[in-house]
Amino acid sequence: MNGVRFVYFDLDDTILDHRAAQELALRDLHGQLPALSAVPISKVRSTYLVVNGLVWREYAAETRSKEGTRSGRFELLFEALEIEADAFRAADLYLEAYADHWVLVEGAMSAFRRITGQFPTGLLTNGFAEAQRAKLARFPELAAAFSAIVISEEEGVLKPHPQLFRIATQRAGVDPGEILYVGDSLHSDVVGGLNAGWQIAWYTDAPAVAGEPDVPRFSDWSELPGLLGI
Ligand SMILES: [Mg+2]
Repeated sequence: MNGVRFVYFDLDDTILDHRAAQELALRDLHGQLPALSAVPISKVRSTYLVVNGLVWREYAAETRSKEGTRSGRFELLFEALEIEADAFRAADLYLEAYADHWVLVEGAMSAFRRITGQFPTGLLTNGFAEAQRAKLARFPELAAAFSAIVISEEEGVLKPHPQLFRIATQRAGVDPGEILYVGDSLHSDVVGGLNAGWQIAWYTDAPAVAGEPDVPRFSDWSELPGLLGI
C-alpha cells in the first residue's frame, strides 16, 4: 500500500473483540433465563449466530426495523429452540451483559497508537448508534484519536452501501485512493472499501481462498504498522 493519507478502522472484531463479548453475553443470558438454561449452550450459540446473521441482513436491506433486530433475534431464537421466553427482556439482558464484556483485540491498542502518531484516523462502523457510542465512551483513547466517526445508524445506510463510504471519504478530506480501511469483514469492509476506491488491510486469520480480492492481510495487530511502512 502506498500514498495513504488517512486510516479508517472498523470497530467490531477489528479493534474490539465483539465475538468474545457476544459469546460471554450469550453465556450470561443462558444462565439468567430458566427456559434457555434447559437448552445446551452450544445449541443456543449456534442457533443465535444463524438468526442474528439473518436479522442483520434484513436490517441492512431495510426489510426489518431496529427493534425487530434488537429483540426480533431473540423472538426467532426462542421460536427455533421451541421455548417460551420474553424476547424484549432477553434483548435487555443480553445487551447489558454484552457491554460488561467489551475488551479490545490483543495488540490493537499499541499498534493503534503507532498509527495515530503518523496518520489522521477515523472510525467507520455498522451498528446501533447508542451501542457504538457507548463503546467509544468505554475506550476514550480511541474516541479522542479519531478525527472522523461514521456510524451507520446515524447516516441511515449500512456498509457496504456506497453512500456510507462517500460520506466517510468526504469527512476524511482526502481522495478515496488515499484512504486505507482496516477491517475484518469481506462483505462489509473489503468489498465495500474496494468499491469506494479505498485501499484495504484485511484483518483475518482465514487462509486465502481463490477468487477473493487480492488485498494485504494481517492476522496479528503487530503486523499492521509494518504494512503501512512505519
Ligand atoms: Mg467488523
